[in-house]
Amino acid sequence: MREIETNGAQETIRLGKALGELAQPGDVILLDGDLGAGKTTLTKGIARGLGISRPVKSPTFTLIREYPEGRIPLYHMDIYRLENGGAEDLGLEEYFEGDGVSVVEWSQFIPALLPEDYVRIALDRTGRDDDARRIKITAVGEEYMRYEDVTWSSHEDN
Ligand code: ADP
Ligand code: MG
Repeated sequence: MREIETNGAQETIRLGKALGELAQPGDVILLDGDLGAGKTTLTKGIARGLGISRPVKSPTFTLIREYPEGRIPLYHMDIYRLENGGAEDLGLEEYFEGDGVSVVEWSQFIPALLPEDYVRIALDRTGRDDDARRIKITAVGEEYMRYEDVTWSSHEDN
């Protein structure tokens, strides 16, 4: 497990960019945390790290948005609306087994549909400051350890 604290959306985007640069085809990245925790913000950074320049929008109402134009395709999913079931019909397994990077918001609602290996990223408000977030990166499966070892910088370059 790796624990990181960010201060402000820009820092979370920078962390996401560093994570996106580590992504490999077929990776599954689970994002858990309450509404407003920063899951979509982190995904904007992941998209940037994949070389996607189109703005990433929350897929809350579409459930899945695909961004094929980067180094690796990005499949951005949001399970929030399916809290009470129905995710079985989305064909998530095909995305998880595909060659893109699957980023899943609210994966806690679909425990039975998750693959064996993935990286889980949990985001939390720290309580101290409106713009501070505690971000915990946990690899499940050896191949995902590189995410815990991510090198990133909260400021400079980009
Ligand atoms: P979620 O997808 O988890 O519901 P969003 O990423 O859509 O959350 O929203 C997070 C909100 O919190 C945004 O308005 C963002 O600007 C704000 N914010 C403030 N500080 C941070 C931070 N450190 N990391 C991420 N978002 C932050
Ligand atoms: Mg969101």
